[in-house]
Amino acid sequence: MKIICVGRNYAAHAHELGNEVPEEPVIFMKPKNALLQNHIPFFYPEFTNELHYECELVLRVNKNGKYIDEKEAASYYSEITVGIDFTARDIQNRLKEKGLPWEKAKAFNNSAAIGKFINVASINNKNDINFKFYQNSVLKQQGNSAHMIYSFDELISHISHYFSLNIGDLIFTGTPAGVGECVAGDMLEALIGDELLLRMEIK
Ligand code: ZN
Repeated sequence: MKIICVGRNYAAHAHELGNEVPEEPVIFMKPKNALLQNHIPFFYPEFTNELHYECELVLRVNKNGKYIDEKEAASYYSEITVGIDFTARDIQNRLKEKGLPWEKAKAFNNSAAIGKFINVASINNKNDINFKFYQNSVLKQQGNSAHMIYSFDELISHISHYFSLNIGDLIFTGTPAGVGECVAGDMLEALIGDELLLRMEIK
């Protein structure tokens, strides 16, 4: 199982971090150890002083494939949830300045939190999915899949030209504007529509 993440897939978020809107999807990966499922405790990592949340829609791959045509892409995922792409922003900024890879900032243990999956088929229009993120009951991020620069199907097709997709792989599809810091003691909650799918505390 691998975790594939998309960077800068919402123009407003790319701008808030001073990045350009990309000409092709920005892709990075997290290892299996990064996966934080519901009810595993998350401890604030000792190597950062600026841990950021990035709330994102997450797809689960349900079929093996390579070189997937965009028109066929929808049959490669049937479940979706919300997740948090935890980012050590101080480390990422330091690495970005030097043009170095991001893994230390993005791929550490438990850096990929996921909520309960729901069926994509239960959603009216997958290109109009509202999701929300609350920190200590305060709304911090609000996104809609309509605002993604690259749609789910475009991402699946693009990613599969470089990496085989396998059953169980997860795709974090990028975060909207509003990313920010979290601290120990924070309660984080994420919803699709009005359904609470992810609830976790930072220890
Ligand atoms: Zn992200």
